[in-house]
This record gives sequence, C-alpha cells and structure tokens, in this order.
Amino acid sequence: MKTIFLYIRPKLRQMSLQLSIKFAGTIVELLLPWMLSVILDTYAAWGNQTMIWIWGGLMALCSAGALAGNVIANRMATRISRDITISLRRDLFQKITLLSARQEDAFTTPSLISRLTSDTYNVHQMIDRMQRLGVRAPILLLGGVTVTLSLEPVLTLVLLTALPLLGIVVSFVSRKGIRLYTRTQEALDRLICRAQESMTGIRVIQALSKTGYEKARFDADNREAANRECTAGLLMNLTNPVMNLVLNTGLTLVIVVGAFRVNNGDTQPGTIIAFLSYFTIILNALMMVSRLFVMYSKGAASGRRIAEVLDTPGEMETLSLPVANQDLHIEFEHVSFSYAKRKNDIEDINFSLLPGETLGIIGPTGSGKSTLLRLLLRLYDPDAGVIRIGGRDVRSIPMKELYTMFGTVFQNDFLHTGTLGDNIDFGRDLQADQLVYAAKAAQADFIFSRKEGFQGNMASRGANFSGGQKQRILLARALANHPQILLLDDSSSALDYKTDAALRRALAKEFGGCTKIIVAQRISSIRHANHILVLEEGHTVGYGTHETLLQVCPAYREIARIQTEEVE
Ligand code: ADP
Repeated sequence: MKTIFLYIRPKLRQMSLQLSIKFAGTIVELLLPWMLSVILDTYAAWGNQTMIWIWGGLMALCSAGALAGNVIANRMATRISRDITISLRRDLFQKITLLSARQEDAFTTPSLISRLTSDTYNVHQMIDRMQRLGVRAPILLLGGVTVTLSLEPVLTLVLLTALPLLGIVVSFVSRKGIRLYTRTQEALDRLICRAQESMTGIRVIQALSKTGYEKARFDADNREAANRECTAGLLMNLTNPVMNLVLNTGLTLVIVVGAFRVNNGDTQPGTIIAFLSYFTIILNALMMVSRLFVMYSKGAASGRRIAEVLDTPGEMETLSLPVANQDLHIEFEHVSFSYAKRKNDIEDINFSLLPGETLGIIGPTGSGKSTLLRLLLRLYDPDAGVIRIGGRDVRSIPMKELYTMFGTVFQNDFLHTGTLGDNIDFGRDLQADQLVYAAKAAQADFIFSRKEGFQGNMASRGANFSGGQKQRILLARALANHPQILLLDDSSSALDYKTDAALRRALAKEFGGCTKIIVAQRISSIRHANHILVLEEGHTVGYGTHETLLQVCPAYREIARIQTEEVE
C-alpha cells in the first residue's frame, strides 16, 4: 500500500478539507437525537410550545446543514478519487510500456490488462469509499457510544459488550477477504486471456467449426471467475447478519433493561427514545465499517497487484562496454539464449554483416528466427555471447538511440484504427512526400488507386485489408524514416511472387545502403541475400550464399526442392 499512498499524498490537503466537512456534518447529525431528547424531556414535559418550535427549527436547520455538507463532501471525494485513479492508471500504463519483454512474459499480457482496468477500478472504489465513510463511520460509532454513555451509562455497557465480538469478526473477514479477492483477480486474468485469444483467432475458430469448443473453454473460466467472486462475496456478506444479530440482541436487552429503569424512575422515556436513535446510528455505523472492510479488502488486494508492476525495477540498463570492429554493421558472436532459462532456444549463433548487406534467415517454425531479431532489438539480453551494431555491444547503446536505428515488420504487427496515413506515419510527423515514397517502395500502390488515398479508413488490427495489403502498409511504415537497419520477419509471405520480386528490386534500389535481415519462408525472398542462415531448433545448420548452401546444406536443398515442386 506504500506505493498507492504515494498517489494519495498529493491530494492530502484536498482530502483533509473534504474530511473536515464530513466531520462537521457528522457531528451535527450526532446531535439530532440529543436535541430530540431535550425537546421531549424538558420542553414537552413543561408544555413550552415556543421552545419546542425553536428547538424543532434548529433540528431542521441542522439536518439540512448535515445533508448539504455530506453532498458537498461526497462530490469532492469523487473528484479526488478520480484524479488519483487517472494518475495511477497513467503511470501504470507508462510502466507497462517500459517493461522488458522478459518482465512482460512473467506478468502475462492479460494480467497486465486486468491490473490496468479492474484493479485500478477497485483501488478507485476503495479511495472513494474511504473518504465517504472512513471518517463518518468511526465518528458516528465513537460519538454514538460517547453520547449514549453520558445519557445512560448502564444501558451503554450492554451495548459495549457486543463490540469486541464484532471487532474479531471484522478483522477475520478482512484478512481472509484480501486473499480471496487476490484469487478472484487471478481468475479474471485467465478470463481476459481466454477472451483475448478467442477474439484474435475468431476467424480461424469459425472456419474450423471450433466455436462450441471455445465456448466451453470460455464458460469454464467464466464460471471459475464468478465462483471465486461469489466465495469472496459470501464471506464478506457474513459480516452484515452477524452484526445485525449481535446488535439486535443488544437492542432487545436495552429495551428490557430500559423499561425496568423507567418504571423504577431511574430514567426518563425521552432518554430511552434518544438512546434507541443512537443505537440505530451505531448500528448503521457498524454496517458502514463492514462495507468499508469489503472495499478495503478488494482495494488492498488490487493495490498490491498494481504495486507489483509499478515497483518492478527497470531492466535493460545501458552498460559501458568496450567498442570492437567498427567496420562491421551487425555482428552476432557465439550468441545463446533461453526464454525459460532451461534448454537454449538459440545456441551458439554467429554471423556478421557489412553495412548495406542482406542476411536471409530460413528454417521451420519455432527454430528461433524471430528470437534472433528480438535479441538484436534488445527485447531480451543473450545468456551468452555478444551482439554488436557498428562495433558497439547492443547493451551499451541507449534504448532511445537503438530504436531509431531500426525499421521493423513483425508477423503480427500492430495496425490501429485511424487513417492509412496515421498507420504509416505512426506519430512521427512525416511529410506527405515521405509517405508517398515509402508506400511506393513497399509496393503499396493499391493506396493510390483508392479515392481516399492516405485518408482511407483503417479498422482495428487492419481488419478491412487483406493480408498482403497489411504487410505492405507495415512495410511502408518501416521504410518511412529511412532506417539504418531493416528487420523483416516473414513480412512478404502473403504477397504473390510477382509483387514479392518487385519489392525485392525496390528495396535493393531505393534502400541499398540499409542493412537488412529478412526472415522468410520462401527461398525466393532471400536467395539474393549476401548471406543466408539456416536454422533448426535454435542451431545453425547452414550459413552461406544460396549457391553454396544448395551444395553443402541438405536442409536448405530440401526446402528448395519442395518449394520448386510447389511452384511448378
Ligand atoms: P520462429 O520465429 O523460428 O518461428 P521463435 O524465435 O518465435 O521461432 O521461437 C523459438 C523458440 O522459442 C520456440 O520454441 C518458441 O516456443 C520459444 N519462444 C518464443 N517466444 C517465447 C516466449 N515469449 N516465451 C517462451 N518461449 C518462447
């Protein structure tokens, strides 16, 4: 909660004003039953009508004042909690964008989404309720007990015996509640994960008639999340009946004992009526406390989950390391890496590229092709070996500088709602002629044959474009700011052979100075590369030119044979 408190601290001044208004309103509210007892026992007994009117008017004024104070304070509370939630969400989002790929893998994307949405909502609710009830409930409780003590000490003692019992119930419930709500949020993570997977793959699911199967899997997760919420809710709901039972038993005792005392002349009926009013106030205050504990349990569980992300130390620091051979542009030297830190996903990879050279990478799915690109982008650090760009170890290049070097197209790259132009520009404020140049080089001529051109509408994830069109838009984005290094991960797989060939020619002509790494399924996309790396299960099984590999690498020869047969 220390981390969450850092967000509350700047609002403490506003909060104290809000709590003071709440405090004043609550005190006035507390005085009302006492005023009633004065009217009943003093002025009504004497038959003094004027004083009854005066005190009655005063009571009405106090009620209106308390109500107005409450409304104002509640509105302030809403604004304060809104502001706190906005800054908490903003920082959490920023932190998520700064997490390293390894840290993101560890949290998982669905969990990060639910931390950003439902967890921040729970914290919002907690802060809001704390302000609304956090002062009001204890004052009503303590004030109620104090006033009743002065009114009728004997009867108050009856009441007080119940309080320790209630304290035990509340502390038990809230401790268990935090644990149960943490489990509920974890189930929600899984539910979001399932929904996300199903929505991403919805076309495939429909095509393979797997909707029933997916629905059953979603139902199971949905039920699990609902059941956990229900278990937590049931426990929380225990507090209300227990409190009611204890307090109403106390109330019955008060009435019985009170009746005897009035009969014996030890007290007056007005006092008993006021006492009962205070008793109701105390009861309500306790209900508030129990609601507060529910919100606290939920909010604290969520607060911890948010703090876990916010407090994650930054990885991928920039190190100062010696500079090696600057003639080479990209160099992998004995690079090994494992995601799970068990079996290596990439083992002892070596290659080097001069500026302007092209490396083609080919191999079956899961052989580690994309991993090599991720390592070059420093999304992960290798476990062994060195990766250099321009002779500098990538770990010594500041992230900001590193990212300006690359133009990248990944397999499931990101297209967002907006215009086509926005998607290519990607917030870089490029000139119109730069967009045209990039689109032409990327063979995205279809943009020019459309009436709206770059103003054409792009649906979420580019759903209104074909696979080949999306690949060319992404390529135009990667080329638009003339990167030093171009990384293309299977980015021409959806293009027909003719367009693919035109693209290769355009890249060679217009982006000749740019060093390229091209991951491809088709040999035709990489056969002209200066070097080709053939991967299998993270190992190099061939490295050389197309002609050399055809002679010395059986795996490459086999891929070439199959693809030639396919084309024929
Ligand atoms: P390719 O691009 O050749 O299809 P990848 O480089 O994506 O293969 O994956 C290489 C291996 O690393 C595979 O066994 C894959 O399961 C594993 N892998 C890829 N990404 C992750 C990840 N984020 N966490 C754990 N393992 C991963």
